[in-house]
Amino acid sequence: MKYVNKNFFVEDIKASYLAEKFGTPLYCYSLNKLTNNIRNLKNNFKKIDPIICFSVKSNPNTNLLREINKQGLGADVVSIGELMKALKAGIKPKNIVFSGVGKTKVEIEYAIKKKILLINAESKNEILQIEKIARKYKTKVNVGIRLNPNTDAKTLSQISTGKKENKFGVSDKEFLTLVRYVKKSKNLNLKCLSVHIGSQILDSKPYEKMLKILDKIIKKTKFNFEYIDLGGGMGISYNNDKKTLNLDKYSNSIKKFLKKNKSKIILEPGRSIIGNTGILISKVIYNKEGHKKNFIILDAAMNDLMRPALYNAKHQIKPAIKNNSYTNKVYEFVGPICESTDKFGSYKKFQKLKENDLIIICDVGAYGVSLSSNYNLRPKPAEILIKKSKASVISKRQKLIEII
Ligand SMILES: *Cc1c(COP(=O)(O)O)cnc(C)c1O
Repeated sequence: MKYVNKNFFVEDIKASYLAEKFGTPLYCYSLNKLTNNIRNLKNNFKKIDPIICFSVKSNPNTNLLREINKQGLGADVVSIGELMKALKAGIKPKNIVFSGVGKTKVEIEYAIKKKILLINAESKNEILQIEKIARKYKTKVNVGIRLNPNTDAKTLSQISTGKKENKFGVSDKEFLTLVRYVKKSKNLNLKCLSVHIGSQILDSKPYEKMLKILDKIIKKTKFNFEYIDLGGGMGISYNNDKKTLNLDKYSNSIKKFLKKNKSKIILEPGRSIIGNTGILISKVIYNKEGHKKNFIILDAAMNDLMRPALYNAKHQIKPAIKNNSYTNKVYEFVGPICESTDKFGSYKKFQKLKENDLIIICDVGAYGVSLSSNYNLRPKPAEILIKKSKASVISKRQKLIEII
């Protein structure tokens, strides 16, 4: 994705052409970029040879899941819907792990019937529920136990999951109790220790700390876990500073960890695989002059891209066609929704924009469409994929009639 002369291109197709052909707001993904990300991740972690399970909640588009499956990745799911979607996309049950704090009876039964690789349980009562269902079906179910390592991921508080005040996983004390319990169970097969300390982690130190904690607790269990599931959370760059998590460093610490612990590593990346593969193309409806700034009112809103409103996340905004005429007004990019949090950021120096001009909101491949809604009764945007110089619709624009 880059400018050629004045035009923003996705692979070899102009963003402005895509907007004209498919309408706006429009989610657009690059398969080349997705393939590169997967290759990059695999290369960086080659020395630990992990099972990589894509986190479906970051982007559950069936076509994208098919491509991800083709490139040898499994899936990490957090609901029966995601599990069904992963299976529909052709991902084999033996490459699927199921996480989440509130799996219902129906979800657990489905996962057991489908014989997925692992159910990662997050509480004592969930373990008891899985055991009860396994007994009913006279089977032995592979489970992991999610530890809450009480590690600060040093990311946004809203996407931090590994501290003791978070609802995820169990404390070290509870973990040891549950290990003892599951080891003795006739219907549970203890296979895995899992963790996931948060998302958009840019510093490898929290991971290093987490590995040290795992090391200690594994020693205490005196148990050889077949799998250690380290979760996802690897951060990407959302701005110009190009700072991303140093994957090589992280991978080296895991390698060190494996010298003492002979287990197969599972990784559950979402954002680091899909985040920078997608853009959101939007059209300016109005340029509204305000007191000290101009509001650029877009046809995309918080229902299409929730991250700024939900986490105060920043996504870069760029013009689809450069015109080299800068304003001296501050531009605040907002959507049409009746909420003051429906905004995408302010820019001091942006090119002059008028009605019908197109802009690009960058790096929306992860937690973009998956967090979208019909709020204000707005139909969901279309999604397209650029593959071998061709753009095709991978999710149709929702029709008004479907939601009225
Ligand atoms: C959300 C989530 C992930 C993926 O996180 P990313 O930051 O997108 O890599 C992985 N594992 C679990 C259990 C999750 O909840």
